[in-house]
Amino acid sequence: MTERTLDAAASSACGCKVGRITEQYDLIGLDEELVSYWTDRTDERYSTRDLAEHVNQRVLKAALDEAGLQYKDGEVENTYRLLTGDDVSSGTRVQTRKELERDAVPVEDVESDFISHQTVYNHLTGCLEASLESPSDEERLERSRDKLGALRNRTAAVTEDTVAQLERSDVLDIGDFNVLVTVTVTCEDCKQQYTVRDLLDQGGCRCGESDT
Ligand SMILES: [Zn+2]
Ligand SMILES: [Zn+2]
Repeated sequence: MTERTLDAAASSACGCKVGRITEQYDLIGLDEELVSYWTDRTDERYSTRDLAEHVNQRVLKAALDEAGLQYKDGEVENTYRLLTGDDVSSGTRVQTRKELERDAVPVEDVESDFISHQTVYNHLTGCLEASLESPSDEERLERSRDKLGALRNRTAAVTEDTVAQLERSDVLDIGDFNVLVTVTVTCEDCKQQYTVRDLLDQGGCRCGESDT
């Protein structure tokens, strides 16, 4: 490592355990990973438990690298599971630790460097000042449009079915027909009526604008 990167690492490290192990094991790009995995808005989003596991696996991997061990794809994850998993027998765990010790991996130190989900959470929100953003106004409007659109379609479908059924059993007489569902919202301040779609597109009733 050059002096320059050492300086950068030292100055950016926070005082918490995550900062300390990041420096100690030289976990490059860890903070960026943590923030992006945590704030990911898809189903792939990591919980703080997933993140703690990710950090701990990187710690374990760095320790194996340090000891000069070779490992296959998935082996680090599996070793981590054998060391920490609830479903692993104590015999298996002891055996795994013995093998690592034999391979010159300081298991005890490594295990004490593992972090909890609470530590990750504190690091994210405290040291990195990350937060789970709430959706933007535009996204909320978009979701509401979708929700109300689906509701209108459902109302139309049920209405159509009902009318068709009554027509088939000769209770009701009608030719070919069309169902249109319109939901209107009235502003009680100015009595202006809007379709809910126009109201959402417009971002509110216009009457509020003039008195500010
Ligand atoms: Zn920290
Ligand atoms: Zn109004």
